Amino acid sequence: MNYKNPDKHGYYGEFGGAFIPEMLYPNVEELQSNYLEIIESESFQKEYQDLLKNYVGRATPLYFAKNLSEKYNTRIYLKREDLNHTGAHKINNAIGQVLLAKRLGKNRIIAETGAGQHGVATATACALLGLECIVYMGEIDIQRQAPNVARMKMLGAEVIPATSGSKTLKDAVNEALRDWINNPSTTHYVIGSVVGPHPFPDLVARFQSIISKEIKEQLLEQTGHENPDYVIACVGGGSNAAGAFYHFVEEENVQLIAAEAGGFGIDSGKSAATTFLGTLGVLHGSKSLVMQTSDGQVIEPHSISAGLDYPGIGPFHANLFTENRAEFFSITDEEALQSAFQLTKIEGVIPALESAHALAVLDKKTFEKDDIVVICLSGRGDKDMETYLKHL
Ligand SMILES: *Cc1c(COP(=O)(O)O)cnc(C)c1O
Repeated sequence: MNYKNPDKHGYYGEFGGAFIPEMLYPNVEELQSNYLEIIESESFQKEYQDLLKNYVGRATPLYFAKNLSEKYNTRIYLKREDLNHTGAHKINNAIGQVLLAKRLGKNRIIAETGAGQHGVATATACALLGLECIVYMGEIDIQRQAPNVARMKMLGAEVIPATSGSKTLKDAVNEALRDWINNPSTTHYVIGSVVGPHPFPDLVARFQSIISKEIKEQLLEQTGHENPDYVIACVGGGSNAAGAFYHFVEEENVQLIAAEAGGFGIDSGKSAATTFLGTLGVLHGSKSLVMQTSDGQVIEPHSISAGLDYPGIGPFHANLFTENRAEFFSITDEEALQSAFQLTKIEGVIPALESAHALAVLDKKTFEKDDIVVICLSGRGDKDMETYLKHL
C-alpha cells in the first residue's frame, strides 16, 4: 500500500477524489495539471525554502523533553512547531500556496477560517508576498475570535462574514467556494488543511512534510537513529499530523498515533472524534469519514479547541485509519486541559489546546523505557489563554 501519495484521481484507498460542482472544474483542473511541476521545480523550492528558513524560522527544534520523559519513563521528543512565525504549523502551507498562486498568475487570494489561525497565516503570507487577501469566516466565529480578526485586518486582509446556516466554519467554506466559482481566473483558494478536492490534500501534505523531514535529520543527529518508535500528532483536518507522519508512513517500524478531539466524550453528543463517529460521505469536495446523520446532514462538532472542531477528517487519515496503519485515540476536553497544564508546569512550554490532545496520549498508552516517542507540538497556547484561565 502506498499511503503517502494518492492515485492520479486523488484517492487514498477508497477516500479522496474531487467532488465539486461543474463550475469549479476549470479552477481545480488548472491546479491538478500544474501543482506538481511548479512546486517540485528548483526555482520554487529555492524561494520556498529560503522563506521557511529566514522568515518562518525553520528548522524548528526537536527538543528532548527530559522532565516529561522521566515522568512517563520513556524518551519523549517535542517537535516545536509552536516556535514558527505566527505560532503554529499552518504558515508552512500558507506560504507554499501563496507562492504557488503567484506562479499560476493569480493576484487574489481567498481563504476560509474557523478559529482564525489559518486566516492569520494566509493574511501573513499575502502581506509578505503582496497579494490581495479575502478571508471568509462564520459570523459567530468572528465574534468568538476577535483577536485573530484584528490581526487579519492589521495584515491588510478583508474579513467577510458568512451569515448562512450555523454561521461557522462549514458555512465559511461554502462562501469561499462560491467566490472561487465567480472569480476563476484571478483567484486562488488557499485551503488550510489536508481536506478539499484533489489536489488539495496532497498539496497541503507536501508543504507540511517538512515537519517529518526535519524530524528524521534531527533524530539522526541526536540519537543516531533517523526513525522513532512512535510519532504522535493531533488531528483536526489532519495537516500537522500528515506532515509529521509523511516520511514515516512507509516505514513499518514507526508506529503512528493520531489524537482526535473527543469533546465531552464520544457518546456525549458533543464531540469531534470523526473516526469513532463518522461514516463514509462527501464533505467539502472529497470522500472521507464524516460526522453525519443517517440522511447525510452534517452534525455540528464540538471541541474545546477551535482548531479540532471539524466534522470530517482528510482522506489521507481516513485511509490510515481503515488500513490500521495509524492508531486513533479520542481525547476529551478535560484530558487535553490537564495535559496542557502538566506540560506548562514541568517543561515551561504552554501548548496550543489542539497540541495538548496529542500530549494526552501519554496517559492512554504505555511506552517502553527505550522507546523514542516524537510528539508534534503543533502550536503555542497564547491564543488559548482565556480558556486556560477559566479552568486553572
Ligand atoms: C489548526 C490547528 C490544528 C488542526 O489542524 P490540522 O490540519 O489537523 O493540523 C492543530 N494545531 C494547531 C495549533 C492549529 O492551529
